[in-house]
Amino acid sequence: MTNLLDLAPSALAAFFAERGEKPFRARQVSRWVHQRFVADVGAMTDLAKPLRERLAAEAQVRGPTVIRDTTSADGTRKWLLDAGNGNAVEAVYIPEDDRGTLCVSSQAGCALDCAFCATGKQGFNRNLTTAEIVGQLWHANRALLADGVTGSWVEHGRPPITNVVLMGMGEPLANFDHVVPALQLMLDDNAYGLSRRRVTLSTSGLVPLIDRLRDACPVALAVSLHAPNDELRDRLVPINRRHPLRELMAACVRYLPAAPRDFVTFEYVMLDGVNDQPRHAAELVALTRDVPCKFNLIPFNPFPGAGFAVTPRERIVAFQQALQEAGLVATIRKTRGDDIDAACGQLAGQVRDRTKRRLATRIVPAPVH
Ligand code: SAH
Ligand code: SF4
Repeated sequence: MTNLLDLAPSALAAFFAERGEKPFRARQVSRWVHQRFVADVGAMTDLAKPLRERLAAEAQVRGPTVIRDTTSADGTRKWLLDAGNGNAVEAVYIPEDDRGTLCVSSQAGCALDCAFCATGKQGFNRNLTTAEIVGQLWHANRALLADGVTGSWVEHGRPPITNVVLMGMGEPLANFDHVVPALQLMLDDNAYGLSRRRVTLSTSGLVPLIDRLRDACPVALAVSLHAPNDELRDRLVPINRRHPLRELMAACVRYLPAAPRDFVTFEYVMLDGVNDQPRHAAELVALTRDVPCKFNLIPFNPFPGAGFAVTPRERIVAFQQALQEAGLVATIRKTRGDDIDAACGQLAGQVRDRTKRRLATRIVPAPVH
């Protein structure tokens, strides 16, 4: 049975063409699924009855199974989603004054094993399918609407999720073949209709795949830098041994002509005494001299057994100032949802560790509306 959430716009068009239906049918169905968040094919009332019956027999809209749904004191909301075989992934909703951002996962676990990342610690389980990636967006919109979410943009008739960041669990470029169709759905006018600048993909630096993304589906790019020289980055972000900084900087420069923004965002996690000294700031300035960029300094979010501590606030501010004095734009990321382990780098899909036994009786399907 085809899961309609798995089909990129072109694949949905092909699905209907193969069945002798006109192209506009694909657009109609896409709007039912991705704009009205309807799961039941039978409810797609502007389709002729025979088509609805055929569709019901051959396709379905199969969203994620929610294992746990937690809301933080600051309004951040995290869904733990079943990924089979005792694995789970997380999607996090971050409401702000004028937008709703969803942080989306792309893999169950991650093979890249960055030293400071909870997802990396659990190793790689598997790639998510397109349906599982876009299903996070589908489900979040649907659940938030059903729960009467508020927000200035929702009052203006926009869906709850206005921005997507692929900054959840996993390395999105390592799951390129499922991530790109999901991106295409996020951008498609008959699906989520987000502008390219409202969709950001974060990568630890898979250089050849940065080029492929530029050619296939350029969206805003964030790169997890975390160190200003190869020696330190080799330790913190092991993929650097394969794709060192010089190559990474060159890939960023090659990406920009196609990008929806004229800068790359460099993420830089602040690790106490490790990468946060004045000399590191000076090295960063030199490293990025030829790369139009903005820095986003991320206070390290601890997790059990991490082995790092967060840089004290005043030194993060001093680091920011050092970058700014050299003419760089640098912001400090607000930590959201840390009381529910939803902050950057804390996502671990902890079904195995913490909740497996309880979950045996508590897996509940997503609400049907
Ligand atoms: N795999 C991708 C995207 C997911 S991680 C990547 O690495 O870019 C999103 C961001 O959170 C990355 O910049 C990542 O390095 C950072 N991060 C990982 N662990 C963290 C932690 N414990 N505290 C703060 N940020 C962390
Ligand atoms: Fe993977 Fe990103 Fe975590 Fe590194 S920081 S282990 S690439 S999810």
